[in-house]
Amino acid sequence: MTAHRTPPRSYDLVVVGGGAVGLSTAWYAAGRGASVLVLESAEGPENTGSSAGAERQWRVQYTQRDLTDLTVRALPLWRDLEEASGRRLVHHTGSLWFGETKEATNEGQIADAAQVLDDAGLRYEWLTASAIEERFGFTGLPSHYEGFHQPDGGVIDVRGTLWSLAHLARSAGAEIRTGQRVLALEPHPERVEVVTEDARITAGKVVVTAGPWSNELTEPLGVRLDVEVYDMATAYFRLRDKARDLPTWFAFQTPTDTDSNLFYGFGSNPWSPGGLVRVAPDFESDPRTAPPAERPGPDPHQLRRTAEFVARHMPMLDPEPVQPGSCLIALPRDHDRQFYLGALPPGEGRDRVLVHAAGWAFKFVPVFGHALAGLALDGGTDYPLGRFRP
Ligand SMILES: Cc1cc2nc3c(=O)[nH]c(=O)nc-3n(C[C@H](O)[C@H](O)[C@H](O)COP(=O)(O)OP(=O)(O)OC[C@H]3O[C@@H](n4cnc5c(N)ncnc54)[C@H](O)[C@@H]3O)c2cc1C
Repeated sequence: MTAHRTPPRSYDLVVVGGGAVGLSTAWYAAGRGASVLVLESAEGPENTGSSAGAERQWRVQYTQRDLTDLTVRALPLWRDLEEASGRRLVHHTGSLWFGETKEATNEGQIADAAQVLDDAGLRYEWLTASAIEERFGFTGLPSHYEGFHQPDGGVIDVRGTLWSLAHLARSAGAEIRTGQRVLALEPHPERVEVVTEDARITAGKVVVTAGPWSNELTEPLGVRLDVEVYDMATAYFRLRDKARDLPTWFAFQTPTDTDSNLFYGFGSNPWSPGGLVRVAPDFESDPRTAPPAERPGPDPHQLRRTAEFVARHMPMLDPEPVQPGSCLIALPRDHDRQFYLGALPPGEGRDRVLVHAAGWAFKFVPVFGHALAGLALDGGTDYPLGRFRP
């Protein structure tokens, strides 16, 4: 007779959202022996939140010293994850920042970040506009532009990371259910009730890693995260000469009348060298107030401006965009904050609910997963993340 196992209705930890941070949390928590359930609203494997797409920038430079230190602590966890999954996920292709060195942006600021690298004893090479043009092939840069190349930066394989984390979380005993939208959380002093369309599940703790719209779950509990949600366009461009590849890069420029005039990009992805490289705008404009009914296409203004930047400054690329797309990101209104991470304020069991939301968080996926698992299971973490508490 086949044994029939009914999944338990009660878990030590329920994770809401199976994006990169949620899966990382599930892997660490299940690895410590906790019973873990991940509830993901999307049906398929393609992430429709902030972890959509193929690549993310890995960089150690930050305007805030604590974040640079956190990247240094993140790298060994990435190496552990790579070893566990048997595939390389962070590739050190270098990171180039250039432009207006005092321009403060949601990404940081060049001059202050160089100072932080100095203070932290991390290497970089300071470059003038002409040195950047000569070495990396950009053209037409204003002559006062400067910046630096940091060789430890690079690119993260997003799909490889998601696949690895899902596989490892399951192998460690976590259950992952897709097509399960969480509608509400009901905290009590001893437990949290997690309400979905067709189930009510009891959890000791809940970690909300629901991406851009996390406020839909925290606001009814009296906590509004002060974020704006933006739809950011992306596109690929063909490298004219595959031998003339690029590091990851970010251009800091003065805003125009219509947008923040910031652009970033990548070289060929080492895991799929197809001669296509991604270039994208980082425009904080037209924030969304509610999830779109349908996934929108990329904003034509953002795409046109990106193609213009490529045509003007990147002769190594064919300026015709291919595979255009878009991705939602929540950013804290306070740029210095960067992230929300931690337990909700106490009261009637509310601090049984933890949240991570907002920011350029992909590089911190293993750290945030490790920290959220520690906060949920032990009530603490060694990582200094207190300032990100909601
Ligand atoms: C264009 C763009 C470029 C970026 N570039 C970088 C970069 O270069 N470097 C970097 O470090 N970071 C970068 N980021 C940020 C990084 O991608 C995100 O911080 C990270 O992917 C967030 O992962 P997550 O797991 O927190 O959220 P998500 O990936 O958004 O996952 C949330 C999941 O929750 C699910 N969900 C939502 N609501 C519910 C619900 N009610 N019930 C159940 N499931 C729910 C969603 O379907 C989704 O799968 C970028 C982001 C964007 C959009």
